[in-house]
Amino acid sequence: MATIFWFRRDLRLSDHPALNQAIELASKTDSRVFAVVSPIDYEDSGEHSPWRRESLWQSWRELNRDLGDKLNVLGEPVSGIISLAKAEGITDVFVSAAYDTKTVEFMKSSRAALEAAGLKLHVGPGNYAVAPGRVLKLDGTPFRVYTPFYRAWMNLGWEQPYQLSPGALWSRASTHIGFDSPAIEEKFAGIQVAKKTIRAGERYALKTFERFIERGALTGYDENRNRADLSGTSHLSHALAHGEIHPRTLLARLSDSAGEVVFAKELAWREFYADVLWHNPGSLTDYLEPRFANMRYDDGTDLGESRLRAWMEGRTGYPMVDAGMRQLIAEGWVHNRVRMIVASFLVKDLHIEWQRGAEWFENWLTDFDPASNSHGWQWTAGCGTDASPYYRIFNPVLQGLKFDPNGDYVRKYVPELRHIDDGAVHEPWLLADGYAGGYAQPIVDHAAERNESLARLEEIKQPKVQ
Ligand SMILES: Cc1cc2nc3c(=O)[nH]c(=O)nc-3n(C[C@H](O)[C@H](O)[C@H](O)COP(=O)(O)OP(=O)(O)OC[C@H]3O[C@@H](n4cnc5c(N)ncnc54)[C@H](O)[C@@H]3O)c2cc1C
Repeated sequence: MATIFWFRRDLRLSDHPALNQAIELASKTDSRVFAVVSPIDYEDSGEHSPWRRESLWQSWRELNRDLGDKLNVLGEPVSGIISLAKAEGITDVFVSAAYDTKTVEFMKSSRAALEAAGLKLHVGPGNYAVAPGRVLKLDGTPFRVYTPFYRAWMNLGWEQPYQLSPGALWSRASTHIGFDSPAIEEKFAGIQVAKKTIRAGERYALKTFERFIERGALTGYDENRNRADLSGTSHLSHALAHGEIHPRTLLARLSDSAGEVVFAKELAWREFYADVLWHNPGSLTDYLEPRFANMRYDDGTDLGESRLRAWMEGRTGYPMVDAGMRQLIAEGWVHNRVRMIVASFLVKDLHIEWQRGAEWFENWLTDFDPASNSHGWQWTAGCGTDASPYYRIFNPVLQGLKFDPNGDYVRKYVPELRHIDDGAVHEPWLLADGYAGGYAQPIVDHAAERNESLARLEEIKQPKVQ
């Protein structure tokens, strides 16, 4: 009997045990596997920038190519799968496990609807080396701090990558509605968007990883990963978020050199955040440390909202912050160090709640991942899993001088500062011609806002609940 494989954020063929299960059951009879996707599955917030839509479309296009033009695009996924199953006499539907809050809820109702229609939903392994929920302390409780999680995660270990099971006859259904490249609008949320093509797909992900190794980047990764001006990181986050590559495939290639160990540790951050979200589903949008909900924020005031807008558009007058926010709009991706700088600035200099920034990131990031985004934000905002939380307030100027010492990153994204040489670009206010290119004056004074942030923290201080 034929089977259905429901692709969601696992858009690859190799190292995919859940897909293998669908192929193996089908190959007991006529080997037909109907690979399906639905755009509805990706509408987390409903508001996607052109980059998010383009990156998804490119991922599907590549998957469709790898399936010999047999990917089936459905409308609403559950009713689409039920109609397809009825039309083809199918009873077994396969999907990868997912652990983020919204998908867990959605899968519960989907399972009920599919079972009511007489279908069996098989949930296979998901996109983590160690599934969220499995790494526990000796007393059986989950970790809230990264380092001990990492040790326990390493101790559990993972399997070797899986080969694609042979013999699938990928099949096209009459219910396939086809898919067209979305038109790239020129504006999103009032912001001009440059036209650009995003490269995606499993083959591109594997090639990206090979190139990362070949150019020796893993060797210097422990040193260079923090430098915004160097291409010191893998740029695999989009592929991991769309499941175009499994982290196990990456981990299997790593040895114990300093750079490779740090790279594995970064993959472990992804798994840590997925684990924290799995145990605390409300922390997708709620404070992991609830007392921070009582803090005074400036959201909703005219001043707060106008500062938020300046942050979104990269007009804060702080070069490193503005370069990061403009990179987000220009590319749908931002360097990790810069994500931390802009997030700290929004929460601690502009006193805006982290969720507003996380939502903006969700709209734009081609690597959007619910757990990494919510908990990357909460870590930086000091209300999440950081072991030394709120007192860490990034100084955007010092961060710029340290992680973009020659100013190349800032000059790339902020043309108004291109006339300034070297690291001086981080402090245009010190130069006679610093504003000759029309760059914005700082909208706040970092030192004053740092004190303001700490004063607001004092107001909510109370013993921490363990
Ligand atoms: C405020 C904020 C929001 C973020 N939102 C997202 C998001 O929506 N999606 C996302 O994938 N990452 C997010 N991150 C984490 C990180 O910035 C990106 O994963 C990284 O920049 C991706 O670039 P890369 O693939 O070159 O990373 P590399 O340095 O090459 O790392 C390899 C992989 O490890 C994982 N990883 C690395 N650093 C982290 C980290 N700090 N947290 C979690 N996983 C990590 C990613 O999957 C990444 O692709 C966020 C970080 C912050 C501070």
